[in-house]
Amino acid sequence: MAVSDIIIIGGGGAGLTAALYASRAKLSTLLFEKLTPGGQIALTDIVENYPGFPEAITGGEISQRMEEQAKKYGTQLLYEEVKSIHPKNNSFEVRTSNQSHETKSVILAMGASFRTLAVPGEKELTGKGVSYCATCDGAFFKEKEIIVVGGGDSAMQEGLFLTRFATKLSVVHRRDKLRASPILQERAQKNPRINFIWDTVVEKIEGDKKVQNVKLKNIKNNSVRDFRTDGVFVFVGHDPNSSLVKGLVELDEKGYVKTFNTLKTSVRGIFAAGEIRSGAVKQLVSACGEGCEAALEAQAYLEDLPS
Ligand SMILES: Cc1cc2nc3c(=O)[nH]c(=O)nc-3n(C[C@H](O)[C@H](O)[C@H](O)COP(=O)(O)OP(=O)(O)OC[C@H]3O[C@@H](n4cnc5c(N)ncnc54)[C@H](O)[C@@H]3O)c2cc1C
Repeated sequence: MAVSDIIIIGGGGAGLTAALYASRAKLSTLLFEKLTPGGQIALTDIVENYPGFPEAITGGEISQRMEEQAKKYGTQLLYEEVKSIHPKNNSFEVRTSNQSHETKSVILAMGASFRTLAVPGEKELTGKGVSYCATCDGAFFKEKEIIVVGGGDSAMQEGLFLTRFATKLSVVHRRDKLRASPILQERAQKNPRINFIWDTVVEKIEGDKKVQNVKLKNIKNNSVRDFRTDGVFVFVGHDPNSSLVKGLVELDEKGYVKTFNTLKTSVRGIFAAGEIRSGAVKQLVSACGEGCEAALEAQAYLEDLPS
């Protein structure tokens, strides 16, 4: 079996950029992607904050271009889910359901998946009024009325950001008090554009081509009511896609991969980049930057490996 120099797991911005740098350095590079290239960014309509595209670019197009660019320099893309990684002497065996490959180094770029509400209408209206990213989509809700679901720090922080655009923002929270830190709670409660709907969950999201209405259920008295809204921002948490490396590399308390001395993990020869990484900024440009850095780190590691 041929031994590759680098196997990258995950074809989001981090993985595709790592692949671009690794293959341009003439390293034999395999990238595994279990769904579609681009990762989370492929889910969004318009990306306005990626440098170099002043007129904006769609998430689909930037994903396609990143894939094309990595392939152009020799990256081999395999559309399979990696199931396990087994350390050997100065190498790793990477297994999918169908095959196994040996590699001298690994870059973990599996990203994270936002938690969803798992209610009817949510999936169909994602990108059409349902969003999980205020920085990304907030500007589309100028002068609109929206709801934010969640009661933690990110719901408050993102909600406060969204009041730059929305004229009215209702925080829908399943409890009668927030979990967010006191300083964020205070800021949100003082903001004249924000109001709170307590003890309530979203039961259904409705709309023809875009979000128009939600059904809200009060969990104390079980009453259900219609609530007109232009947008639903969901901040009920993110989960790292790290189950694959649990027990192999060190994870933080939330399951994100810990990195040391830039992007090295606790296992020599395994690096991590992008949203899978503990402390990462959840933006495409930073995921791409980390992908570049991880590939350069891996290259330096390979140069020092005994032949
Ligand atoms: C709706 C939405 C809109 C957004 N808009 C913007 C925006 O406008 N600007 C911006 O900067 N950021 C935006 N973001 C955030 C941005 O998309 C992420 O920060 C970025 O995609 C993270 O890249 P990543 O490569 O680290 O991970 P991801 O994009 O999560 O990619 C990880 C990839 O790994 C794959 N994978 C996971 N496990 C395995 C496995 N075992 N085997 C094989 N493949 C695996 C996944 O299928 C996925 O494709 C948005 C996010 C969302 C959800």
